[in-house]
Amino acid sequence: MTLLDERLRTLQHTAREWAEQLRPLALALEEDPDRVRDHLDLPLFSYLSRTPVPRAYQPDPITVDGQAYYGTGGLERVVFCEEIAAVDAGMLLAAPGPSLSGVLVSLLGDEEQQSWFYGRLMERTSWTFLALTEPERGSDAASLTTSLTSREKDGPLLLNGAKRFIGNAARSDVGVVFARTRPGPLGVVAALVETGGPGFEAVPFETVGLRGNQICEVRLTDVEVPAERVLGRHLSPTRRGLMGAVQGFNRLRPGVAALALGIARGAYEYVVAHRRTLRADEAAGLERMALRIEGVRRLVYRAGAAVDRDDPGLGALASAAKARAAQLAEEVTLEALEYFGPGARLEHPLLDKFARDARGVEFMEGTRNIQRLNVFQGLSQGKIDRG
Ligand SMILES: Cc1cc2nc3c(=O)[nH]c(=O)nc-3n(C[C@H](O)[C@H](O)[C@H](O)COP(=O)(O)OP(=O)(O)OC[C@H]3O[C@@H](n4cnc5c(N)ncnc54)[C@H](O)[C@@H]3O)c2cc1C
Repeated sequence: MTLLDERLRTLQHTAREWAEQLRPLALALEEDPDRVRDHLDLPLFSYLSRTPVPRAYQPDPITVDGQAYYGTGGLERVVFCEEIAAVDAGMLLAAPGPSLSGVLVSLLGDEEQQSWFYGRLMERTSWTFLALTEPERGSDAASLTTSLTSREKDGPLLLNGAKRFIGNAARSDVGVVFARTRPGPLGVVAALVETGGPGFEAVPFETVGLRGNQICEVRLTDVEVPAERVLGRHLSPTRRGLMGAVQGFNRLRPGVAALALGIARGAYEYVVAHRRTLRADEAAGLERMALRIEGVRRLVYRAGAAVDRDDPGLGALASAAKARAAQLAEEVTLEALEYFGPGARLEHPLLDKFARDARGVEFMEGTRNIQRLNVFQGLSQGKIDRG
């Protein structure tokens, strides 16, 4: 069983306090995700806008009780995400900061690229995005068709194509875009792209869950990308591009699992707080929920710790955690609604929100079906065992 040390327990305790400040704001942010701009002075956003940033690029880390936090650890991310999502996962995903791109840049960026990326984020608070998914090519990301090519020898690299479901793209200054320089799996690269130039268009669309994330359609028309912004120049072709993406997503997935775990816990705690008297069968149902949440928490912590150890079984473990936690979130939130009768969704909008957010997490970083394929692969290759 993975235990939290003093440092992580301090973060957990502090994140719980920060999360409570979000509760009264959650429904207003749902209605208009841009309202996040009114709350950027909250400590939660200070933390998220400055993490994950590697020590070398973070002159002024977040400090709690004399301990510095960089957000780069797997278990740190898991503990933090669960606490915030137990109140409002949407607010967490609405935050400015390096976010998903930060993990990719730390894995694939050379020194100059990291310095450029983190430097500008430390200079001023801004949002970032990570664009992999394309219309019709979500789960099968390897078949992406967005191109990064030059029209003439030594001409500028131009990005052309479309991306879909891209969180925060419309409010970001910079992000990471996956694109193809040539056919085949080794032809995919990730590039740092600025949104301010011509040809970049991001349009938010209406969603039912995780609305704070403001997911967008992105159209890329001859967006110029300087050659020095293509990540992984210093790595072999087998270690950048799609391989880099897989590694990055393996490291991020325990955090997404923790979002789902937090949503499940939030729904459970909502029932505990609002149904003071329970029939025996209802009390037994709640007890079962608590046990299931604890069981999944152990798995999610294990996946978070596997990030920190660079465990060879990380991919499969992270997928197992994400699949189990996403299922837990959907089942627990729906069961929680049953405690409030047929009018539950209207009379308990925060609980309704948990259920809608749970559905959204199912798709983030791969659906349950895709995670199951990863787990099967890990088992068949002996990277993880059934225990
Ligand atoms: C809230 C939210 C935020 C997101 N943020 C981002 C982001 O920031 N950046 C980004 O790039 N993307 C983002 N996404 C997109 C997300 O990664 C995709 O939704 C996901 O990869 C699934 O792709 P799809 O929606 O096209 O579904 P599809 O791939 O069309 O899948 C539809 C169904 O088919 C099933 N399926 C597909 N292939 C297989 C298979 N081989 N075997 C069995 N079943 C299969 C799936 O499990 C699913 O049930 C986000 C999505 C959401 C909901």
